[in-house]
Formats: sequence, C-alpha cells, structure tokens
Amino acid sequence: MSRSSAIVIGAGLAGLVAADELAQAEVEVTVIEARERVGGRTWSRELANGALVEMGAEFVLPQNTEVTALASELGLGLWAKGMRYGEREPRGGIGTSADELAAAFADVRRALERLEGRPSARALLDSLAIGPGAREAILARVEISSAAAAEEIPATNLAGLAQIGAESAPSVAGGNQGLALGLAARLGAAVRLGDAAVEVDRRADSVVVRTASGRDYEADRCVIAVPASVSERIDFRPGLPRATREALVRVSYGHAAKLFVPLSEPAPPSAVMSVPERYWCWTATGAGDRPTPLVSCFAGSPGALERLQVTAGAGRWLESLAVLRPDLALEPAGALLSTWDEDPWVGAAYSIPPEPELTAALAEPVGPLAFAGEHLGGPYAALMEGAVRSGRAAARRLLGRL
Ligand SMILES: Cc1cc2nc3c(=O)[nH]c(=O)nc-3n(C[C@H](O)[C@H](O)[C@H](O)COP(=O)(O)OP(=O)(O)OC[C@H]3O[C@@H](n4cnc5c(N)ncnc54)[C@H](O)[C@@H]3O)c2cc1C
Repeated sequence: MSRSSAIVIGAGLAGLVAADELAQAEVEVTVIEARERVGGRTWSRELANGALVEMGAEFVLPQNTEVTALASELGLGLWAKGMRYGEREPRGGIGTSADELAAAFADVRRALERLEGRPSARALLDSLAIGPGAREAILARVEISSAAAAEEIPATNLAGLAQIGAESAPSVAGGNQGLALGLAARLGAAVRLGDAAVEVDRRADSVVVRTASGRDYEADRCVIAVPASVSERIDFRPGLPRATREALVRVSYGHAAKLFVPLSEPAPPSAVMSVPERYWCWTATGAGDRPTPLVSCFAGSPGALERLQVTAGAGRWLESLAVLRPDLALEPAGALLSTWDEDPWVGAAYSIPPEPELTAALAEPVGPLAFAGEHLGGPYAALMEGAVRSGRAAARRLLGRL
C-alpha cells in the first residue's frame, strides 16, 4: 500500500509542528513556505555587537508547557532572562504605587471570576472602583500586550495580566527560531522555501496546491497554517464553506512593533513601561545568565505605533526611550526596528483571541483541509504555545481521517 501524503502550507511553528507530527506518523509531507526562511513570526537575529534579538515572539509565558516540551525534545535550553515579564515599573501618566496596582489587579481577578457576557477590557475596568492611576496603568498593560485598543480586547485578556506575577518567562537559548529550525532540520528536503501557495484545489481524491512559481503539488490532505489575515491571498477551489470563510474574515489582529538598541555597557535586568506611550522596555540576561548589552522595547496597539511614528523609522521612539531610560548607555546608531504591519505574509502582529464560535468553526476540517495557526490556539491564541497546539491538533484531525 502506498504511503498517505499531506501538504502543509506555512512553515511557522503551527505548520512545522503539524508537518512533524504527520511525518512521525509515516505520512509523506511537503511544506510550502512563502518566505526564504522558516519560523514565520519567530525570527531571531543578531545585532552588530553580538546581542541576540527576537524580531517577533520572545517570551515563553508560564504554563506554555508545549513550547517548553518542544524545546527540550529538540535539545534546546532556555535563557531565564533575569527580568520579570509580569513586573513592569509603570512610568509617566497619572502615576500609581505598587500597592495600589496590586489591589487593583485583585479587584480585576475577582471581577473576572463572576464575569457575565463578553465585555471589553475597557468596559470591565470602567465598571470597577479602582484608582485612576492604577486603571491607567492596567489599561496600558493590556493594550500593549494585546496590541489593540482596550475597547477591542475581550475582558478575559486581563486574566493573563492579573495572574502573571514574579514567574519566569524565558526564551529559547540561542533564539526562539531554533524551535522552527530544529523541526525543519528533521523534515529535511520536505520543506520548500521561497514559493507561496496561491491556489488550493480540492479534487475527488486529492488536493492540488499551486504555487506562485507555477508548480503543482498533489497530496491526500492539506494543512493550511497561514495567518487568517493573509488567507484570502489563497484561491480555494471550490470556495470554502460560508461558515469557514466568514470565520476567517472575522479573526481580528493586533498591531505591534519592537525596537532593539545596543548598549555600550550591559545593564542589570529591568522592566519599565511607558504608560502614556503604550510601550515597555527591558534589559535581560542571556547565555550564562550574563547581562546582554541590549535594551529591547515592545509597543502594542495601533495608537502606540502612530504616536511612536514607526512607519517613519526608529527616530521618534529612540527620543522617547532616551527620556524613559536615562540610566542606559544607548547606542542609537546600531538600533534595529521590527515591524509586521507591512509584512506581506502576516500584515499584523497576532490575533485578538477569537470568540470560541470562530475557533470552533475553523477547527472543523473542510473535506481534506485542516486549519492551524496561533489564532486557533484557544486560550493560548496569539502565542507560540497556541501555534504549537493548533498545529498538533490539525495534524491529529487529518490523521484521524487518513
Ligand atoms: C512583535 C511580536 C511579538 C510577539 N511576542 C510573543 C511572545 O513574547 N511570546 C509568544 O509566545 N508569542 C509572541 N508572538 C506571537 C508568536 O510569534 C505567534 O503566535 C506564532 O509565532 C505564530 O505562529 P504561526 O505558525 O501560527 O504563524 P506564522 O509564524 O506567521 O507562520 C505562518 C507562515 O505561513 C507563511 N505563509 C503565509 N502565507 C503563505 C502562503 N500563501 N504560502 C506559503 N506560506 C505562507 C508565512 O510566511 C509564515 O512563515 C509575537 C508576535 C509578534 C509579531
């Protein structure tokens, strides 16, 4: 009997995990990736001073057990980073104290326990009797992390912030992209880079995927592991069922950017948030728990990107950072800006966790097709963890049908 076969579109974490799972079940796999590299939104680079930077995903959050397990399976270690993802000193704005903030987070936790309906993060915060300084700082935290305005974010997104405390949120040693590179190495020649899927044709007994270079790949099954934000660039024939099409369109995305600035002297671990400008910055340790000569910044929400004028370059953000962190020996000439809005293969940062009905509609295979991606990660959506879990789930759904 000949082996079953599958095509996976997209070599981000979701696609590579799906392909790996299928390959381990003896399915003949081909992965088609538009970019000239694997990893998608996990992309690790080095500055001229040798500091490693994560252009996209950086922190492995507490309870992200699948990512940690994958790193360990691939023989990759973790860098603890020294600073605390959950503890950012708020600066600017009305002002608050650590005690006031802790009390406000406790109020948020209690309100989430008795949550009814689907209020926005803004609506929930407005309904609580917490001080204006703490409210402003929590709004900044949730808008930055969710990469969207508080009116657009489900109140449940506050749960993560209210729970994450002093726990460690490490990175994969040597860069998170190592996860993708490790999986791609296992898949070998099955991964085809630099050729986008443009058409997916469902036939009687097979799926044919046509690429931008005009090649046709045929297999029994196909995993679509591209962000929902760019799925309309693929022509599905026959068209996808209405429920799937509508669900894909309704997945909305946050917008974020990062800035990396080398330091002439490494600084001890720290985490500071600019409340009014909606970004945070951190100094951290790397290999051997040694401080890295680098400050990294993350700005989230369309308003933040506009205020920092990121489409015009790093200039405005660098000015703001110099005021926020006078303690750091910045070397602005070596700065690197990372933006994703103009990236043709995602066009945004990550999903605003979709409503469960959307996730359920997209989790349902369409004949021989199954969908994957962080947007299908349920409680882990928007994270590497969601990508890994969704990739595994999509592969298992297809294996069940092969
Ligand atoms: C700035 C930023 C910071 C982040 N920080 C964190 C963090 O700290 N912690 C965390 O856990 N997560 C973080 N994330 C989120 C994390 O990066 C993503 O959730 C995860 O990497 C998504 O994986 P994916 O496989 O679903 O999608 P992607 O990584 O986007 O992979 C999809 C792949 O499909 C390819 N593709 C698209 N269209 C086609 C096509 N037509 N044909 C072929 N290939 C195609 C793309 O090129 C891409 O390689 C961050 C993301 C960003 C942008």
